[in-house]
Amino acid sequence: MKTEFSLAQLANPDIAEADKILRACVHCGFCTATCPTYVLLGDELDSPRGRIYLIKEMLEKDRPPTADVVKHIDRCLSCLACMTTCPSGVNYMHLVDQARVRIERDYSRPLPERALRAVLAFVLPRPGLFRAGMIMARLGRPLAALLPTPKNASATPTLLRRIKAMLALAPGSLPAPGPAAGSVFPAVGDKRGRVALLQGCAQQVLAPRINQAAINLLTRHGIEVVLVKDEQCCGALTHHLGQDGDALARARANIAVWQSEAEQGGLDAILVTASGCGTVIKDYGFMLREDREFAGPAARISALAKDITEYLVGIDLHPSSQQGDVTIAYHSACSLQHGQKITHAPKELLSKNGFVVKDVPESHLCCGSAGTYNILQPDIASRLRDRKIANIATVKPDMIAAGNIGCMVQIAGGTSVPVVHTIELLDWATGGPKPELKGPGLTRPALN
Ligand code: SF4
Ligand code: SF4
Repeated sequence: MKTEFSLAQLANPDIAEADKILRACVHCGFCTATCPTYVLLGDELDSPRGRIYLIKEMLEKDRPPTADVVKHIDRCLSCLACMTTCPSGVNYMHLVDQARVRIERDYSRPLPERALRAVLAFVLPRPGLFRAGMIMARLGRPLAALLPTPKNASATPTLLRRIKAMLALAPGSLPAPGPAAGSVFPAVGDKRGRVALLQGCAQQVLAPRINQAAINLLTRHGIEVVLVKDEQCCGALTHHLGQDGDALARARANIAVWQSEAEQGGLDAILVTASGCGTVIKDYGFMLREDREFAGPAARISALAKDITEYLVGIDLHPSSQQGDVTIAYHSACSLQHGQKITHAPKELLSKNGFVVKDVPESHLCCGSAGTYNILQPDIASRLRDRKIANIATVKPDMIAAGNIGCMVQIAGGTSVPVVHTIELLDWATGGPKPELKGPGLTRPALN
């Protein structure tokens, strides 16, 4: 694609990067076929190619984004299916990330929307506040059924519609908090390695059992696990809202504490059980590439970050075959399959450890979770969830496995089939307890 940035514009490293990305696009449109919003809405401006044109215009003209541009960029899930499909290697992720920052900086959203985004950005990354928010949302759930649901999924959602979606996501109850930051879990038997386990923010409130299963499995296989003190939210939530100041501050804080832990106790890896977080941590090196102090450490931390399944394929697990024949529909989270290109490891691990693993038709399409997307774009998100659940139903699973808490909550909102994390199944198969099949985020009636 021909671009027309001035030399002065190209002196800005972000614009130079955008120019490089835009020039790689050859307008072929292959990406449209796998873009969930194009598949649902059929509008070129809701396709990757359409959005690339909109972003090009916005950056080249260096003008504040229009409401129309914002509408189509906001509808993008950042699922990155387009990057998997693109034959030219267009890095849509870095382009849309930049567009979101520009929108946040130069576009004035209506006050109610600004307020909602500010609340989400403030509450979600703070587990204490998020827990309090979930309790309040649970109390407000009966009100959600009274709020209207518009028929037209392409309409811009109203604030009430978004509040209804937020209330619908609140679980019926919350589990007790998991282990505290700073805890170290020694290896059982001969020590073969030492890792940090990302504690996450929403996940540690909604489902601490996920990291507990990871700790059980790792220590049982000779890996010491540390929950690093003073670790923060990885920054993914605010990064995807275009609030880069907050996201970068969190990235720097995490890099500092992980680097210190690596220097003092040694770390073979920083393991992540929420793939949305893993994708962003693996991108810290890029996000901080212009930061003199942090560029080097950020690149090293990104290289240390691994999805838990990526790490486990390098370890000999000891299956106990206690679970019998259980058919698992494996839901491939977008952040794992498109963001991190991890497609085989989770399924291979599940199969090798005794599960019958079924691929889900249209597995490349997002379930509609996408961070805060199911709150900010609830109608598109609900349609994607229903489509995902219909596809999952065709393989008649006993359970659904996923590697990302956002997908787990989203899918559980529309099905009675238990939804569990891949690591819970692997823990079970290697001597751990059977995953709880009732509980927050596993089975919950849908409101939206
Ligand atoms: S990230 Fe997903 S929703 Fe956004 S343009 Fe690419 S395929 Fe479409
Ligand atoms: S597939 Fe790649 S090169 Fe083709 S239009 Fe989409 S982004 Fe551009």
